[in-house]
Amino acid sequence: MAKYNTAIRGTADVLPDESYKWQYVEGKMLETAKLFGFNEIRVPVFEHTEVFTKNVGETTDVVQKEMYTFTDKGDRSITLRPEFTAGVVRSVIEHGLVNGALPVKACYVGGCYRYEKPQAGRMREFHQFGAEMFGAVDPAADAEMILLAYTVLSNLGINNLSLEINSIGCPECRKRYHDALKSFFEARSEELCDTCKDRLERNPMRILDCKSPVCKEIAADAPVMLDYLCDECREHFEGVKKHLSAVGLNYKVNPQIVRGLDYYTKTVFELISGDIGAQSTVCGGGRYDGLVGQMGGPSLPSLGFAMGLERLLMVMENTGVEFPCVQKPDIYVGTMGEAAKVEATKICMALRNEGFSALTDVAGRSVKAQMKYADKIGAAYSTVIGDDELKNGKCVLKDMQTGEQREVTIPDGIVSAIYDSRTNACIDAILEA
Ligand code: ATP
Ligand code: MG
Repeated sequence: MAKYNTAIRGTADVLPDESYKWQYVEGKMLETAKLFGFNEIRVPVFEHTEVFTKNVGETTDVVQKEMYTFTDKGDRSITLRPEFTAGVVRSVIEHGLVNGALPVKACYVGGCYRYEKPQAGRMREFHQFGAEMFGAVDPAADAEMILLAYTVLSNLGINNLSLEINSIGCPECRKRYHDALKSFFEARSEELCDTCKDRLERNPMRILDCKSPVCKEIAADAPVMLDYLCDECREHFEGVKKHLSAVGLNYKVNPQIVRGLDYYTKTVFELISGDIGAQSTVCGGGRYDGLVGQMGGPSLPSLGFAMGLERLLMVMENTGVEFPCVQKPDIYVGTMGEAAKVEATKICMALRNEGFSALTDVAGRSVKAQMKYADKIGAAYSTVIGDDELKNGKCVLKDMQTGEQREVTIPDGIVSAIYDSRTNACIDAILEA
């Protein structure tokens, strides 16, 4: 097959017989977010490149190596969103939400784009669900965000997760930490990768997030931010821990977590799964008290998180979490002859208007082939309509599972038969529960 007839490396199609899983996951997420007061925001897939370079950070992996940036026909530099936060902040400032009732809460779901080495759990187009809260200074907000992320995942049946938290301080206490980091890494600067040699001058904390094995090994012994927190940041972190303990959510303080984006301050956290191998961070987030002000809005302490849907679906598949099954068609209306074909369209519309999924032949096939198809797609009922059925106003309805047949009127008898069977199925489900 020609190369351009296959999907681009690092992207994936979701086919019609798989999409119900995505719809279920996304639906559950948005539903759970509502319980915490978060409604969906939809922002464009692309933004002015500066939205990301200036705010995600010039020395981050995302900006330095991973962005899909292009010049459009109007000679503007455009970037496909590598993450949502910067675009969401741009939007809530642009529309003045940050000047209204606080906190502003918003959640999102959609595709992100990063030029990375594709592997299990690492795609070039991937999908995130996330949430942001603007104008919330209290440690209770940090706890609420962590609880939202945790509840979203547990409502999907994902339980084997560890919560790791850390504090990376504020610009004030980070100054001292940067100096300490710089002297630490300067002693071994020759061994660092080229990107990190440059980071050493510009932003030594980014070295802690480097994926190169040598830099990783060196970074393992680096000083940790927790030892440099100012009183306010320390108190805030204690507050977050207190709230988490109060609801009985177990956490581990991991001083190595720094997160890969520059805008974070104070609390950062990750939810890690033990069920999907190397790319095991399902969710990451934290506080970004400086970002809204930096992007031209009021100075608003804010925070958020994002989770990767591909990784999450991998966890669900690997642990055998059940997805509610797909709704199969209620009925296939087979036809014999031209008149019946026209009538079948009417019958199907009558059934669809009653809320049933009804299909008929549009491929011009024989009755035998039509019935084979009805079986293949898993229709609950089938019938065949020909001249006799049209004349008598009655047809034979076949239960495809039991093979049981009965004569019913067209279309009322069909409607009430399917309606009854649905009702009985509901009663059975209730009795079973
Ligand atoms: P990683 O350290 O795995 O590269 P990250 O720190 O770059 O993750 P974030 O920017 O915090 O990730 O994005 C939040 C979540 O989005 C991640 O925890 C992960 O679940 C998911 N994610 C990030 N990059 C990818 C990718 N390339 N493919 C699939 N999922 C991803
Ligand atoms: Mg990454």
